[in-house]
Amino acid sequence: MSRHLTDQFGRNITYLRLSVTDRCDLRCTYCMAENMTFLPRKDLLSWEETDFLASAFVARGVRKIRLTGGEPLVRKGIMPFISGLSRHLESGDLDEITITTNATQLSRYARDLKTAGVKRVNVSLDSLNRETFKALTRSDSLDKVLAGIDAGLEAGLKIKINTVALKNGNAHEIPSLMQWAHGKGMDMTLIEVMPIGDIVEDRFDQYLPLSETRELLEKQFTLMDTPLRSGGPARYVKVRETGGILGFITPLTNNFCAGCNRVRVTCTGQIYMCLGQDDSVDLRAAIRSENPHDALAMAMDKAMINKPEKHNFRIDKSGVIPAVARHMSLTGG
Ligand code: SAM
Ligand code: SF4
Repeated sequence: MSRHLTDQFGRNITYLRLSVTDRCDLRCTYCMAENMTFLPRKDLLSWEETDFLASAFVARGVRKIRLTGGEPLVRKGIMPFISGLSRHLESGDLDEITITTNATQLSRYARDLKTAGVKRVNVSLDSLNRETFKALTRSDSLDKVLAGIDAGLEAGLKIKINTVALKNGNAHEIPSLMQWAHGKGMDMTLIEVMPIGDIVEDRFDQYLPLSETRELLEKQFTLMDTPLRSGGPARYVKVRETGGILGFITPLTNNFCAGCNRVRVTCTGQIYMCLGQDDSVDLRAAIRSENPHDALAMAMDKAMINKPEKHNFRIDKSGVIPAVARHMSLTGG
């Protein structure tokens, strides 16, 4: 067994996206159906099991862990879990613990996150307009989210705004949203909607190619290409007028799988090696077996062998069926 996690295409896996819950206090239209059935709590890994799993990935060379969900900050016990995990930061075995959140609970947790060694947080926000926010999230929580962002900045967290570009949602608001984010010293990344999970709306009515958004932005702003790379799928520009950084994640218009360095583990301990494919390995069964250390190592090796080369996302016509049936809130974004 090699210590490092390397797949059959020679890609080194150094980044773990760990979903700690499938539950959420919002119901974003592109992520969830309005009436979701969530997993029974007994199916979730306990915090001890989650720590065991995360630590096994660190031992195999993972340098960055992003906590996600569902909404990670709604699960009880999240802060003690993160504080415990931060021992790997202190030992130097892990470079970073980050979190992706909708920020509704950030006012409550911002300072504790900073104390636990979290430096950067991604906040998902698709509109600053109360009615649009309400329509997109099915929740009147914009004020809470904005207060959470301010609390995060005040606590010294570096915040990046993630915005899904939506044809019939926020398309025309993107320039002003970017100006607002940059004005507060936050970078922003735009994301194309992906055909993941059954939702009520037709994906075709949501999907906005980012090439169109870029054209809209270029009418008002000067987008200067930068060599900046985060090791992930985003391509970045610097916006001359705002001085801020803008990222583009284009899973549909531009496949970026060749440089993939990540895997995703759900809150039930299933490892998905690709967001857009169904291959998974059951790590929960491994850690609940008689010999958890060996069984987990074998399951992780199996996952590496099975990591697919790329996803096959397409939204080129109305009524397209999802590439995968599971919702984004289960796999973790
Ligand atoms: N609740 C947290 C949040 O919203 O930041 C974390 C989980 S959420 C599933 C992670 C990210 O996935 C969010 O930025 C969200 O906008 C994005 N997302 C959800 N469904 C998506 C889809 N179908 N296509 C593209 N991005 C999606
Ligand atoms: Fe919740 Fe995040 Fe999905 Fe929105 S995108 S429903 S905030 S998990």
